[in-house]
Amino acid sequence: MTFEKFSSEIKTLEKFFPIYCNDKHTGQFSKHYKIFYQENEINFDISLCKECHNLLHYAITRLQECPNDPKPRCRKCPNSCYDKDKYKQMAKMMRYSGMKLGVTKAAQRLKKIFKKN
Ligand SMILES: [Zn+2]
Repeated sequence: MTFEKFSSEIKTLEKFFPIYCNDKHTGQFSKHYKIFYQENEINFDISLCKECHNLLHYAITRLQECPNDPKPRCRKCPNSCYDKDKYKQMAKMMRYSGMKLGVTKAAQRLKKIFKKN
């Protein structure tokens, strides 16, 4: 996968993880991530609980080692590289945060509409 694709996948994780973790878990702490991909470097800080840091770290490693080009959605991958348990955790997290983000976006749209009138 291209670096652009890789970095947008990372951005999605960076956005989705805290939403889920802040709602469901306690004991968050900030950690710095330095990720290398195709001679590029991505840096970010993120505050999560220990369990989510582990899962995020795992997800990043899987992503770095993804042999598919172009990368399909993990859900549609014919030979998913995830552990069953980790996959379930990821799916739950993505579903929850995706829905919440969707709801927030819809609410923002509604607000705009109502402001006009
Ligand atoms: Zn968490």
